[in-house]
Amino acid sequence: MHGADIQLKEIESALLAEELTFHYQPKVSFLTGEIIGCEALLRWLNPDGTVILPDDFLPQAESSGFITEITAVMLPKLIEDIEALRAVKSDIQVAFNISALDLRSPYLVKMLRSFIGGRRIDPGNIQIEITETAVVDASERVRTGLLDLVALGIELVMDDYGTGYSSLEMLSRMPFSALKLDQGVVRRMTEDAKNTHIVRSSLYLARELSIKTVAEGVETAAIYAFLLASGCNEAQGFWIGEAASRDDFVALCKQRRRWPASSYGLLYNAWVNHISYRQKVLDLVHTLMLTKPGEWGQLPKMELSHSPARCRLGQWYRDASHGGGSPDYMRLEGPHRLMHAAGESLVRAAQSNPEPDVVIKAIKAFLEYSDVVDAEVSNIVERWMEKSLRQSLRPDDE
Ligand code: C2E
Ligand code: MG
Ligand code: MG
Repeated sequence: MHGADIQLKEIESALLAEELTFHYQPKVSFLTGEIIGCEALLRWLNPDGTVILPDDFLPQAESSGFITEITAVMLPKLIEDIEALRAVKSDIQVAFNISALDLRSPYLVKMLRSFIGGRRIDPGNIQIEITETAVVDASERVRTGLLDLVALGIELVMDDYGTGYSSLEMLSRMPFSALKLDQGVVRRMTEDAKNTHIVRSSLYLARELSIKTVAEGVETAAIYAFLLASGCNEAQGFWIGEAASRDDFVALCKQRRRWPASSYGLLYNAWVNHISYRQKVLDLVHTLMLTKPGEWGQLPKMELSHSPARCRLGQWYRDASHGGGSPDYMRLEGPHRLMHAAGESLVRAAQSNPEPDVVIKAIKAFLEYSDVVDAEVSNIVERWMEKSLRQSLRPDDE
Protein backbone atom coordinates (compact mmCIF):
# COMPACT_ATOMS: atom_id res chain seq x y z
CA MET A 1 0.00 0.00 0.00
CA HIS A 2 1.37 3.35 -0.95
CA GLY A 3 0.48 7.01 -0.87
CA ALA A 4 -2.46 7.91 -3.03
CA ASP A 5 -3.52 4.21 -3.29
CA ILE A 6 -4.60 4.26 0.32
CA GLN A 7 -8.32 4.85 0.70
CA LEU A 8 -9.84 6.68 3.63
CA LYS A 9 -11.85 3.53 4.47
CA GLU A 10 -8.59 1.63 5.03
CA ILE A 11 -7.29 4.32 7.36
CA GLU A 12 -10.56 4.23 9.30
CA SER A 13 -10.35 0.50 9.80
CA ALA A 14 -6.67 0.69 10.72
CA LEU A 15 -7.53 3.16 13.49
CA LEU A 16 -10.32 0.90 14.69
CA ALA A 17 -8.09 -2.18 14.57
CA GLU A 18 -5.49 -0.30 16.64
CA GLU A 19 -2.87 -0.58 13.94
CA LEU A 20 -1.77 3.03 14.52
CA THR A 21 0.89 3.66 17.10
CA PHE A 22 3.54 6.21 18.01
CA HIS A 23 7.24 5.90 17.50
CA TYR A 24 9.57 8.27 19.32
CA GLN A 25 12.54 10.10 17.87
CA PRO A 26 15.08 11.42 20.41
CA LYS A 27 15.88 15.10 20.86
CA VAL A 28 19.21 16.07 22.41
CA SER A 29 20.21 19.27 24.24
CA PHE A 30 23.38 20.89 22.90
CA LEU A 31 24.04 22.19 26.39
CA THR A 32 24.15 18.83 28.16
CA GLY A 33 24.46 16.34 25.29
CA GLU A 34 21.65 14.32 26.90
CA ILE A 35 18.26 13.28 25.60
CA ILE A 36 15.78 15.83 26.87
CA GLY A 37 12.78 14.69 24.94
CA CYS A 38 11.43 13.21 21.76
CA GLU A 39 8.93 13.71 18.97
CA ALA A 40 5.94 11.38 18.77
CA LEU A 41 5.53 10.24 15.14
CA LEU A 42 2.58 8.24 13.91
CA ARG A 43 3.27 4.79 12.44
CA TRP A 44 0.77 2.44 10.83
CA LEU A 45 1.89 -1.09 11.59
CA ASN A 46 0.27 -3.12 8.86
CA PRO A 47 -0.54 -6.74 9.83
CA ASP A 48 1.57 -7.87 6.83
CA GLY A 49 4.61 -6.56 8.73
CA THR A 50 5.13 -3.36 6.74
CA VAL A 51 5.23 0.07 8.34
CA ILE A 52 3.34 2.86 6.62
CA LEU A 53 4.68 6.37 7.19
CA PRO A 54 2.49 9.41 7.89
CA ASP A 55 3.16 11.05 4.53
CA ASP A 56 1.39 8.08 2.90
CA PHE A 57 -1.86 8.36 4.83
CA LEU A 58 -2.09 11.67 6.68
CA PRO A 59 -2.80 13.82 3.59
CA GLN A 60 -6.02 11.81 2.96
CA ALA A 61 -6.94 11.99 6.65
CA GLU A 62 -6.26 15.71 6.61
CA SER A 63 -8.28 16.57 3.51
CA SER A 64 -11.28 14.52 4.66
CA GLY A 65 -11.19 15.88 8.20
CA PHE A 66 -10.68 12.37 9.62
CA ILE A 67 -7.44 13.60 11.19
CA THR A 68 -9.40 14.92 14.19
CA GLU A 69 -10.71 11.40 14.77
CA ILE A 70 -7.14 10.08 14.67
CA THR A 71 -5.97 12.72 17.15
CA ALA A 72 -8.87 12.03 19.52
CA VAL A 73 -8.19 8.27 19.52
CA MET A 74 -4.40 8.53 19.64
CA LEU A 75 -4.03 11.24 22.29
CA PRO A 76 -4.96 8.95 25.23
CA LYS A 77 -2.44 6.40 23.89
CA LEU A 78 0.18 9.12 23.78
CA ILE A 79 -0.58 10.02 27.39
CA GLU A 80 -0.16 6.36 28.41
CA ASP A 81 3.21 6.32 26.63
CA ILE A 82 4.27 9.55 28.32
CA GLU A 83 3.43 8.00 31.70
CA ALA A 84 5.73 5.10 30.85
CA LEU A 85 8.48 7.48 29.71
CA ARG A 86 8.13 9.55 32.87
CA ALA A 87 9.11 6.48 34.87
CA VAL A 88 12.56 6.72 33.22
CA LYS A 89 12.75 10.48 32.92
CA SER A 90 10.15 12.47 34.81
CA ASP A 91 10.79 15.73 32.97
CA ILE A 92 10.70 14.22 29.47
CA GLN A 93 9.39 16.63 26.82
CA VAL A 94 7.31 14.84 24.22
CA ALA A 95 6.45 16.84 21.12
CA PHE A 96 3.13 15.99 19.51
CA ASN A 97 2.10 17.12 16.01
CA ILE A 98 -1.36 18.51 15.50
CA SER A 99 -3.19 19.84 12.49
CA ALA A 100 -5.13 23.11 12.33
CA LEU A 101 -8.37 21.11 12.23
CA ASP A 102 -7.61 19.83 15.72
CA LEU A 103 -7.82 23.38 16.99
CA ARG A 104 -11.13 24.23 15.40
CA SER A 105 -13.08 22.36 18.01
CA PRO A 106 -12.39 22.47 21.76
CA TYR A 107 -11.91 18.70 22.25
CA LEU A 108 -8.10 18.75 22.12
CA VAL A 109 -7.81 21.39 24.82
CA LYS A 110 -10.51 19.64 26.88
CA MET A 111 -8.72 16.29 26.72
CA LEU A 112 -5.36 17.77 27.59
CA ARG A 113 -6.86 19.76 30.46
CA SER A 114 -8.30 16.58 31.95
CA PHE A 115 -4.99 14.66 31.60
CA ILE A 116 -3.10 17.48 33.26
CA GLY A 117 -5.81 18.10 35.89
CA GLY A 118 -5.81 14.37 36.69
CA ARG A 119 -2.04 14.68 37.25
CA ARG A 120 -1.27 11.98 34.73
CA ILE A 121 1.25 14.27 33.08
CA ASP A 122 2.76 17.68 33.79
CA PRO A 123 2.16 20.40 31.20
CA GLY A 124 5.95 20.43 30.72
CA ASN A 125 5.82 16.82 29.49
CA ILE A 126 4.03 17.74 26.30
CA GLN A 127 4.78 20.20 23.54
CA ILE A 128 2.53 20.89 20.60
CA GLU A 129 4.11 21.15 17.15
CA ILE A 130 2.19 22.93 14.47
CA THR A 131 3.31 24.05 11.04
CA GLU A 132 3.00 27.64 10.03
CA THR A 133 0.90 26.66 7.00
CA ALA A 134 -1.59 25.16 9.42
CA VAL A 135 -2.04 28.42 11.28
CA VAL A 136 -1.37 30.82 8.47
CA ASP A 137 -5.01 31.62 7.88
CA ALA A 138 -5.60 31.27 11.57
CA SER A 139 -9.24 31.81 12.28
CA GLU A 140 -10.14 33.23 15.66
CA ARG A 141 -10.99 29.69 16.80
CA VAL A 142 -7.55 28.35 15.91
CA ARG A 143 -5.95 31.29 17.65
CA THR A 144 -8.06 30.80 20.77
CA GLY A 145 -7.22 27.09 20.72
CA LEU A 146 -3.51 27.87 20.69
CA LEU A 147 -3.87 30.41 23.50
CA ASP A 148 -5.86 27.87 25.57
CA LEU A 149 -3.00 25.38 25.21
CA VAL A 150 -0.51 27.99 26.37
CA ALA A 151 -2.78 28.80 29.32
CA LEU A 152 -2.51 25.12 30.32
CA GLY A 153 1.27 25.60 30.48
CA ILE A 154 1.96 23.72 27.25
CA GLU A 155 4.72 24.96 24.95
CA LEU A 156 3.97 25.64 21.29
CA VAL A 157 6.61 24.82 18.71
CA MET A 158 6.52 26.14 15.17
CA ASP A 159 7.40 23.16 12.99
CA ASP A 160 9.24 23.16 9.66
CA TYR A 161 10.42 26.75 10.07
CA GLY A 162 12.18 28.21 7.05
CA THR A 163 9.94 26.77 4.36
CA GLY A 164 6.94 29.09 4.39
CA TYR A 165 6.34 32.71 3.64
CA SER A 166 4.67 34.13 6.67
CA SER A 167 6.68 32.51 9.45
CA LEU A 168 7.71 35.85 10.83
CA GLU A 169 4.18 37.12 11.06
CA MET A 170 3.00 33.91 12.73
CA LEU A 171 5.88 33.97 15.17
CA SER A 172 5.00 37.45 16.31
CA ARG A 173 1.24 36.83 16.49
CA MET A 174 1.26 33.57 18.43
CA PRO A 175 3.00 32.72 21.71
CA PHE A 176 5.47 30.15 20.34
CA SER A 177 8.17 28.94 22.75
CA ALA A 178 10.39 27.38 20.13
CA LEU A 179 10.98 27.18 16.44
CA LYS A 180 11.96 23.97 14.76
CA LEU A 181 14.17 24.43 11.75
CA ASP A 182 12.95 22.57 8.72
CA GLN A 183 14.89 19.37 8.09
CA GLY A 184 15.27 20.07 4.36
CA VAL A 185 16.86 23.44 5.03
CA VAL A 186 19.16 21.90 7.66
CA ARG A 187 20.24 19.05 5.39
CA ARG A 188 20.82 21.26 2.35
CA MET A 189 23.26 23.50 4.23
CA THR A 190 26.03 21.33 2.76
CA GLU A 191 24.79 22.01 -0.79
CA ASP A 192 23.96 25.68 -0.85
CA ALA A 193 25.03 28.63 1.32
CA LYS A 194 21.50 30.06 1.01
CA ASN A 195 20.28 27.31 3.34
CA THR A 196 23.05 28.08 5.81
CA HIS A 197 21.95 31.70 5.64
CA ILE A 198 18.33 30.73 6.40
CA VAL A 199 19.45 28.61 9.37
CA ARG A 200 21.73 31.31 10.77
CA SER A 201 19.19 34.08 10.40
CA SER A 202 16.47 31.90 11.95
CA LEU A 203 18.73 31.27 14.94
CA TYR A 204 19.34 35.02 15.13
CA LEU A 205 15.65 35.80 15.00
CA ALA A 206 14.83 33.27 17.72
CA ARG A 207 17.53 34.81 19.91
CA GLU A 208 16.02 38.26 19.44
CA LEU A 209 12.58 36.91 20.33
CA SER A 210 14.02 34.92 23.27
CA ILE A 211 12.65 31.62 22.04
CA LYS A 212 14.35 28.23 21.79
CA THR A 213 15.57 26.60 18.60
CA VAL A 214 15.44 22.94 17.61
CA ALA A 215 17.14 21.66 14.47
CA GLU A 216 15.54 18.74 12.70
CA GLY A 217 17.19 16.51 10.08
CA VAL A 218 20.61 16.38 11.74
CA GLU A 219 22.17 13.51 9.81
CA THR A 220 25.91 13.99 10.36
CA ALA A 221 28.39 14.83 13.09
CA ALA A 222 29.49 17.86 11.02
CA ILE A 223 26.02 19.41 10.92
CA TYR A 224 25.60 18.66 14.63
CA ALA A 225 28.87 20.46 15.41
CA PHE A 226 27.97 23.46 13.23
CA LEU A 227 24.60 23.90 14.95
CA LEU A 228 26.20 23.53 18.38
CA ALA A 229 28.74 26.24 17.56
CA SER A 230 25.99 28.50 16.17
CA GLY A 231 24.07 28.58 19.42
CA CYS A 232 21.16 26.30 18.47
CA ASN A 233 19.53 24.72 21.57
CA GLU A 234 18.41 21.22 20.58
CA ALA A 235 18.96 18.66 17.84
CA GLN A 236 16.90 15.87 16.33
CA GLY A 237 17.85 13.69 13.40
CA PHE A 238 19.07 10.34 12.13
CA TRP A 239 22.62 10.99 13.39
CA ILE A 240 21.23 10.94 16.93
CA GLY A 241 18.57 8.34 16.33
CA GLU A 242 15.56 7.43 14.22
CA ALA A 243 12.05 7.10 15.57
CA ALA A 244 11.73 3.87 17.56
CA SER A 245 8.98 2.02 19.37
CA ARG A 246 8.19 3.19 22.88
CA ASP A 247 10.04 0.27 24.46
CA ASP A 248 13.13 0.83 22.32
CA PHE A 249 13.06 4.52 23.15
CA VAL A 250 12.79 3.75 26.86
CA ALA A 251 15.81 1.43 26.49
CA LEU A 252 17.72 4.22 24.74
CA CYS A 253 16.93 6.67 27.57
CA LYS A 254 18.11 4.12 30.13
CA GLN A 255 21.51 3.91 28.40
CA ARG A 256 22.14 7.55 29.46
CA ARG A 257 24.15 8.06 26.33
CA ARG A 258 25.73 11.44 25.71
CA TRP A 259 26.30 13.33 22.50
CA PRO A 260 28.81 16.19 22.15
CA ALA A 261 27.85 19.20 24.26
CA SER A 262 29.18 22.61 25.13
CA SER A 263 28.03 25.66 27.01
CA TYR A 264 29.72 27.77 24.34
CA GLY A 265 26.29 28.25 22.73
CA LEU A 266 25.19 30.22 25.79
CA LEU A 267 28.18 32.54 25.58
CA TYR A 268 27.72 32.90 21.83
CA ASN A 269 24.04 33.78 22.19
CA ALA A 270 24.82 36.25 24.97
CA TRP A 271 27.50 37.86 22.85
CA VAL A 272 25.26 38.27 19.80
CA ASN A 273 22.50 39.65 22.00
CA HIS A 274 24.93 42.21 23.39
CA ILE A 275 26.07 43.29 19.93
CA SER A 276 22.44 43.62 18.95
CA TYR A 277 21.81 45.95 21.93
CA ARG A 278 24.63 48.24 20.83
CA GLN A 279 23.29 48.31 17.28
CA LYS A 280 19.75 49.05 18.46
CA VAL A 281 20.94 52.02 20.56
CA LEU A 282 22.93 53.49 17.66
CA ASP A 283 20.13 52.89 15.15
CA LEU A 284 17.62 54.58 17.45
CA VAL A 285 19.85 57.61 18.05
CA HIS A 286 20.52 57.92 14.33
CA THR A 287 16.79 57.72 13.59
CA LEU A 288 15.98 60.33 16.24
CA MET A 289 18.53 62.69 14.69
CA LEU A 290 16.90 62.30 11.28
CA THR A 291 13.33 62.94 12.43
CA LYS A 292 11.51 65.82 14.07
CA PRO A 293 10.33 65.26 17.68
CA GLY A 294 6.75 65.66 16.47
CA GLU A 295 7.23 62.55 14.27
CA TRP A 296 8.68 60.29 16.97
CA GLY A 297 5.28 58.86 17.78
CA GLN A 298 5.32 57.30 14.30
CA LEU A 299 8.60 55.42 14.83
CA PRO A 300 8.50 51.62 14.82
CA LYS A 301 8.12 49.94 18.21
CA MET A 302 11.40 48.52 19.42
CA GLU A 303 12.19 46.36 22.41
CA LEU A 304 15.10 48.13 24.05
CA SER A 305 15.90 47.53 27.68
CA HIS A 306 18.87 49.33 29.22
CA SER A 307 18.92 47.11 32.27
CA PRO A 308 22.16 45.06 32.34
CA ALA A 309 20.26 42.31 34.16
CA ARG A 310 17.91 41.94 31.20
CA CYS A 311 20.77 41.72 28.73
CA ARG A 312 21.68 38.13 27.86
CA LEU A 313 25.38 38.89 28.39
CA GLY A 314 24.65 40.19 31.89
CA GLN A 315 22.68 37.04 32.68
CA TRP A 316 25.41 34.89 31.22
CA TYR A 317 28.36 36.17 33.26
CA ARG A 318 26.32 36.01 36.42
CA ASP A 319 25.47 32.34 35.73
CA ALA A 320 28.97 31.53 34.50
CA SER A 321 30.62 32.87 37.66
CA HIS A 322 28.07 31.23 39.95
CA GLY A 323 28.51 27.97 38.13
CA GLY A 324 32.09 27.74 39.39
CA GLY A 325 33.56 29.47 36.35
CA SER A 326 36.61 31.66 36.42
CA PRO A 327 36.19 34.83 38.49
CA ASP A 328 37.46 36.94 35.61
CA TYR A 329 33.91 36.78 34.18
CA MET A 330 33.23 39.32 36.86
CA ARG A 331 35.66 41.67 35.14
CA LEU A 332 32.84 42.18 32.67
CA GLU A 333 30.45 43.38 35.34
CA GLY A 334 31.76 46.96 35.76
CA PRO A 335 32.24 47.92 32.10
CA HIS A 336 29.02 46.16 31.10
CA ARG A 337 26.99 48.10 33.66
CA LEU A 338 28.62 51.37 32.60
CA MET A 339 27.97 50.61 28.95
CA HIS A 340 24.25 50.11 29.57
CA ALA A 341 24.08 53.29 31.67
CA ALA A 342 25.86 55.15 28.85
CA GLY A 343 23.39 53.67 26.36
CA GLU A 344 20.48 54.97 28.40
CA SER A 345 22.07 58.45 28.75
CA LEU A 346 22.78 58.53 25.03
CA VAL A 347 19.19 57.78 24.09
CA ARG A 348 17.95 60.34 26.63
CA ALA A 349 20.37 62.95 25.26
CA ALA A 350 19.18 62.31 21.71
CA GLN A 351 15.56 62.62 22.84
CA SER A 352 15.93 65.71 24.98
CA ASN A 353 18.73 67.74 23.53
CA PRO A 354 19.29 67.53 19.80
CA GLU A 355 22.39 69.74 20.24
CA PRO A 356 24.99 67.80 18.16
CA ASP A 357 27.91 68.23 20.62
CA VAL A 358 26.03 66.74 23.55
CA VAL A 359 24.93 63.74 21.51
CA ILE A 360 28.40 63.24 20.00
CA LYS A 361 29.93 63.20 23.48
CA ALA A 362 27.37 60.64 24.62
CA ILE A 363 28.03 58.46 21.54
CA LYS A 364 31.76 58.56 22.31
CA ALA A 365 31.24 57.49 25.92
CA PHE A 366 28.90 54.71 24.88
CA LEU A 367 31.32 53.34 22.28
CA GLU A 368 34.28 53.56 24.64
CA TYR A 369 32.56 51.41 27.27
CA SER A 370 31.35 49.14 24.55
CA ASP A 371 34.96 48.63 23.33
CA VAL A 372 36.04 47.64 26.84
CA VAL A 373 33.21 45.10 27.06
CA ASP A 374 34.10 43.75 23.60
CA ALA A 375 37.73 43.30 24.56
CA GLU A 376 36.74 41.41 27.73
CA VAL A 377 34.35 39.16 25.82
CA SER A 378 37.02 38.50 23.16
CA ASN A 379 39.41 37.43 25.92
CA ILE A 380 36.86 35.03 27.34
CA VAL A 381 36.09 33.59 23.89
CA GLU A 382 39.80 33.17 23.20
CA ARG A 383 40.38 31.32 26.47
CA TRP A 384 37.27 29.23 25.90
CA MET A 385 38.38 28.15 22.45
CA GLU A 386 41.87 27.38 23.70
CA LYS A 387 40.52 25.24 26.52
CA SER A 388 38.20 23.41 24.12
CA LEU A 389 41.01 22.74 21.66
CA ARG A 390 43.26 21.38 24.37
CA GLN A 391 40.52 19.14 25.73
CA SER A 392 39.52 18.39 22.14
CA LEU A 393 35.80 18.71 21.71
CA ARG A 394 35.95 16.16 18.93
CA PRO A 395 34.08 13.00 19.80
CA ASP A 396 36.07 9.77 19.69
CA ASP A 397 36.09 8.04 16.35
CA GLU A 398 33.55 5.32 16.45
P1 C2E B 1 7.53 16.45 11.06
O1 C2E B 1 6.71 16.83 12.24
O2 C2E B 1 8.34 17.52 10.45
O3 C2E B 1 8.40 15.23 11.55
C1 C2E B 1 9.72 14.99 11.19
C2 C2E B 1 9.83 13.97 10.09
O4 C2E B 1 11.17 13.96 9.64
C3 C2E B 1 9.55 12.53 10.54
O5 C2E B 1 9.02 11.85 9.43
C4 C2E B 1 10.94 12.02 10.87
O6 C2E B 1 11.06 10.61 10.80
C5 C2E B 1 11.75 12.68 9.78
N1 C2E B 1 13.16 12.87 10.15
C6 C2E B 1 13.65 13.19 11.36
N2 C2E B 1 14.98 13.29 11.33
C7 C2E B 1 15.36 13.04 10.07
C8 C2E B 1 16.64 13.00 9.40
O7 C2E B 1 17.70 13.22 10.00
N3 C2E B 1 16.63 12.73 8.07
C9 C2E B 1 15.47 12.47 7.39
N4 C2E B 1 15.58 12.19 6.07
N5 C2E B 1 14.26 12.50 7.99
C10 C2E B 1 14.21 12.79 9.30
P2 C2E B 1 7.66 11.07 9.54
O8 C2E B 1 7.59 10.31 10.79
O9 C2E B 1 7.48 10.36 8.25
O10 C2E B 1 6.57 12.23 9.67
C11 C2E B 1 6.24 13.06 8.60
C12 C2E B 1 5.26 14.12 9.02
O11 C2E B 1 4.00 13.56 9.38
C13 C2E B 1 5.68 14.87 10.26
O12 C2E B 1 6.61 15.83 9.92
C14 C2E B 1 4.36 15.46 10.73
O13 C2E B 1 4.04 16.65 10.02
C15 C2E B 1 3.37 14.41 10.33
N6 C2E B 1 2.99 13.65 11.53
C16 C2E B 1 3.67 12.64 12.13
N7 C2E B 1 2.98 12.20 13.21
C17 C2E B 1 1.86 12.97 13.29
C18 C2E B 1 0.75 13.01 14.22
O14 C2E B 1 0.66 12.30 15.19
N8 C2E B 1 -0.24 13.94 13.96
C19 C2E B 1 -0.17 14.80 12.91
N9 C2E B 1 -1.18 15.66 12.74
N10 C2E B 1 0.86 14.78 12.04
C20 C2E B 1 1.87 13.89 12.24
MG1 MG C 1 6.96 17.76 13.91
MG1 MG D 1 9.35 19.14 11.05
